[in-house]
Amino acid sequence: MTADQHAARTFDGTGATPLSGVGTAVWYDPAAETELGEPPAPETVDPDEQRERFETAREQAREELVAERDRTADRVGEEEAAVFDAHRQFLDDPQITDGVEAAIDDGLPAEHAVQQAFEGPIEQFAAMDGHMAERADDLRDVRDRLVRLLTGGDRLDLASLPEGTVLLAERLTPSETAQLDADRVAGFATVLGGRTSHAAIFARSLGIPAVVGVGDELDEIESDADVLVDGEAGTVIVDPTPEQREQARGGRGVEIREEPVSTADGKPIEVAANVGTLAELEGAVAQGADGIGLFRTEFLFLDREAPPDEDEQVEVYREALAAFPDGRVVVRTLDVGGDKPIPYLDQPESENPFLGQRGIRRALGPDADLFETQLRALLRAAATEDGTLSVMFPMIATVPEFEAALEAVDSIANEFDEASIEYAIPELGLMIETPSAAFMAPELADRADFLSIGTNDLTQYVMAADRENELVADLHDPREPAVLRAIARTVDAADDGDAWVGMCGEMAGDPDLTELLVGLGLDELSMSAVTIPDVKANVTEIETDDAEALADRTTAEATRAAVSKHLTGDRTQ
Ligand code: PEP
Ligand code: MG
Repeated sequence: MTADQHAARTFDGTGATPLSGVGTAVWYDPAAETELGEPPAPETVDPDEQRERFETAREQAREELVAERDRTADRVGEEEAAVFDAHRQFLDDPQITDGVEAAIDDGLPAEHAVQQAFEGPIEQFAAMDGHMAERADDLRDVRDRLVRLLTGGDRLDLASLPEGTVLLAERLTPSETAQLDADRVAGFATVLGGRTSHAAIFARSLGIPAVVGVGDELDEIESDADVLVDGEAGTVIVDPTPEQREQARGGRGVEIREEPVSTADGKPIEVAANVGTLAELEGAVAQGADGIGLFRTEFLFLDREAPPDEDEQVEVYREALAAFPDGRVVVRTLDVGGDKPIPYLDQPESENPFLGQRGIRRALGPDADLFETQLRALLRAAATEDGTLSVMFPMIATVPEFEAALEAVDSIANEFDEASIEYAIPELGLMIETPSAAFMAPELADRADFLSIGTNDLTQYVMAADRENELVADLHDPREPAVLRAIARTVDAADDGDAWVGMCGEMAGDPDLTELLVGLGLDELSMSAVTIPDVKANVTEIETDDAEALADRTTAEATRAAVSKHLTGDRTQ
């Protein structure tokens, strides 16, 4: 074959990280590793021995889960690490352990007993909606772990893959993605998943080239093939040409701009980072973030026996401010819902956790004490020379909710005045992530210093499409005209109400959308740190008039397909 006839084959998917990598394909198929044959005749099986084997496997599974939990907490965040605690709870769930015991008593070996005992609960969860359906995946994970330990299966160790591996998989769970080491893995590609799937979000936090949602064609790529993962173009190329390799090795070649940027005609756009742990601050600074546009504080509250006290929180917020002495740090107050288990909180089960008591609804209800402590810590932390602290409230749906949050701040300030405690009132704003908040944006903007649009939730609620449900992933797309119009309304209201307006949902970090977002009138864009250099580079090339014309054209369209035709560089349609 001559160089001209080079047989590069290209597979299209959705780019999850604007990075490229070349390496050797390795298929990851945990299900195949745990397939079992027919069980032996019951009379040949010793139940006592099987019970002992099951107990040993359970103990080993606990140890593995603790190690994976710690590693994930260090590398990705406490919130993401919590999934391993849930897995440990399944190991002790009586419905499962009793089921295994009963199957062993019936003469099955431990591994077959485990398969049988998990079957019913997996089917029950799989038949439910949204988050409950995801529990089925968690149960499968735990079952496969136990079967692997019982059969001596040698699971691919995701944390120490050979250097230069391109991992291929049907899907990657959060726990699997979190184990990948960016220094060893050249990239990954999956059959399933979208830009907001957990695997994609983790890939961005970890800085791993990734393409998701390639579809079944990915199966055509064999282990050991030479593969290029181009997370920017959203393509996976087998046997890439020397030019394609060279381009990938050269990386994006995007300059890191430490200073704030403006459009070509001089409109400043703040480009900030979303972080969920203190460990991520360093990466945010390294990528040139102007500040933090969304500091998710859930990590402070997860995986512990009791909530953090006021002093501990003051320290954490000051540390974030110290990382950006000339910038702004937007801290979001606790946003927990029925779906994130926090042992010391009373969280009743809900069939529809996304529509239940989450965010500000808990802060003004059952978590009022936690909310007060957090606000006290924030007001104290705001009294610092370093940086500017801003505080925003999640899941606001009504004007009275926002007013109640402002009153809570006021009453703490009064107490501090009386007790002569040093404090400052931070900028106060709210997230626009419910359709009601977008409709009420004029009244909310009148009362707020700023609005920050959370497109992950706003899209899910505007489109009535669960952000975690693959079956409706196609509808969960912020380029839907309905979502664009909700954003446009919000921005107009902020302008009229003299509030600045930012965006901190995943949409803000999509470099294909920077011009549209600037044209819609956003003052600030906040994103996973890894996309900051691309977005800053894009901003500098934008002419505001052109961007505004683009925004007008797209918001007037009737369909997402028509919107996408206006977006240069958009390869997903
Ligand atoms: C959002 O909803 O867009 C958002 C940024 O918040 P989270 O993803 O934490 O719900
Ligand atoms: Mg949200």
